[in-house]
Amino acid sequence: MSSLLNQIKQTHPHLYKAFSTLADGEQHLTRIQELDRYWELLKHPVRQVILPGTNLPKDAVISGEYDLIYAGGTLSLLHAAVMAGQYGRRVMIFDRQTPAKSTRDWNISRNELLNLSATGLFTESEVDSVIVRRYKTGWVEFYKPDGSQKRLSMENVLDCAVNADKLLGMAKEKVTAVRGSTVLAERSFSCCYRFDDHIVVKIEDGKGKAFYYKAKVLVDVMGILSPIALQLNEGVPQTHVCPTVGTIASGFEDVDFDTGEILASIGPADMLPGKGRQLIWEGFPAEDSQYITYLFFYDEADSPNDKSLLGLFDAYFRKLPDYKKPGKDFVVHRPVYGIIPAYFHNGFNRTREIADDRILLFGDAASLGSPLTFCGFGSMVRNLPRLTADLDRAIEENDFSKKHLEKISAYEPNVASMANLMKYMCFNSATDEPNFVNDLMNEVMIVLDELPERYRQAMFRDEMKIEDLMMVMLRVAWRYPKVLVATWEKLGMQGSFGFLKNLAGWAFSPVR
Ligand SMILES: Cc1cc2nc3c(=O)[nH]c(=O)nc-3n(C[C@H](O)[C@H](O)[C@H](O)COP(=O)(O)OP(=O)(O)OC[C@H]3O[C@@H](n4cnc5c(N)ncnc54)[C@H](O)[C@@H]3O)c2cc1C
Repeated sequence: MSSLLNQIKQTHPHLYKAFSTLADGEQHLTRIQELDRYWELLKHPVRQVILPGTNLPKDAVISGEYDLIYAGGTLSLLHAAVMAGQYGRRVMIFDRQTPAKSTRDWNISRNELLNLSATGLFTESEVDSVIVRRYKTGWVEFYKPDGSQKRLSMENVLDCAVNADKLLGMAKEKVTAVRGSTVLAERSFSCCYRFDDHIVVKIEDGKGKAFYYKAKVLVDVMGILSPIALQLNEGVPQTHVCPTVGTIASGFEDVDFDTGEILASIGPADMLPGKGRQLIWEGFPAEDSQYITYLFFYDEADSPNDKSLLGLFDAYFRKLPDYKKPGKDFVVHRPVYGIIPAYFHNGFNRTREIADDRILLFGDAASLGSPLTFCGFGSMVRNLPRLTADLDRAIEENDFSKKHLEKISAYEPNVASMANLMKYMCFNSATDEPNFVNDLMNEVMIVLDELPERYRQAMFRDEMKIEDLMMVMLRVAWRYPKVLVATWEKLGMQGSFGFLKNLAGWAFSPVR
């Protein structure tokens, strides 16, 4: 019996039992523990990984030279495939694990996914080949003890389940098909040395052997663990988080394969040590008889709660039968997990650092998505055409200053404002009734139900217009005045003012 699993036998018995049946349970446990290092990273002094060129060791040998080096091999592959395939740039991607193998699966709607063919990266039929299931309706529902909850149904939202590894694998093939571009596995980012006219990236293999590569720009796509994001944002790369765990499984007794359960809460908040948490489920049909279930909660990055994926996974396996009943043929095909990042921009525009001279951050490293609805995958797909065209232009103009690079960003004012609403979903046992989050969200569902369907579709597709959001907020406040007190308790003076600044920035932005 494996030792790593044994170590959690007493502390996380439900997770232990479930992972013991998986052939690669031990490997997943290692990756989960790697992600859980995030919580420690936030407490330690920030490691300096962007160093001046003068620090480059005299005996460093450059192993290769590229236009762009991508650290991290998940969403980077979509961007790099366009840069290599469409723009003819020499790219190198490396990952400390296996590139193009994600620990998640994604939902999106087909229209958004078609952005991938708009860039010329894939044909429409290639895009369709990664959709493993389509369904028409989805719903959102928040628990009420008396069963009076409003089930809000909507169509054409998050209605395509995407096989993430297949999509990334196809992108990887496009990269490696371009002469001079390369993808490396089991290589970890160590640090980088910045010169006026290039950047040198130091990476290490599994045995700690160092290699140096030279590029015009280093693209940081290392996700939530990015040490570059940590340094550029002075130890606060995220303000909020959404720890998420789940499985792709088959053999449930009671699932509907024609409907997506976009958000489903089935009980009041968990009163755990710390501030407590409002758990939320999601359920999506996937390939053949497979079904994806997620469990997650929203929280402040520095709250006193246990936010470990390990703890959440144990709760997932313990509570799963309350949400979907595993039948006698129940089998877990793959666990999925991660920490979804969020950032509150206290200003009229983006306040998070996402670039530096010769360094640019994308994906979760940039933390510009909204964890309420679409997250980083949706954000990357939606913005891919401009994120690639703009970086190609920067290469053309040979301008890699921070000022220039930070304009190549997936920041969207509507998404930033919407992400703020997540603060209302962060439960706090000191101020909230146990069913507070559910009661509030139930009122939002009633308001959306009274409005034409385009409102709810826009909200759950990150396409909300400011006047529509104002309409929803005013109606919710009218129906449920407690939200005004909650605004004060949850956002405070600074947060409320910051939210207003976000809204003003959105109102005056060209993207309305
Ligand atoms: C369970 C789950 C479900 C989700 N579902 C959706 C969805 O339906 N729709 C949606 O839009 N979004 C969804 N998301 C969010 C989405 O998965 C992320 O936004 C996306 O994966 C971010 O990609 P990334 O490449 O930026 O980071 P990651 O996916 O975190 O990838 C980062 C990569 O960098 C590598 N890395 C880290 N450190 C180093 C290092 N030092 N050196 C080298 N490599 C390193 C890692 O091994 C990893 O491969 C989901 C997230 C989770 C957790």
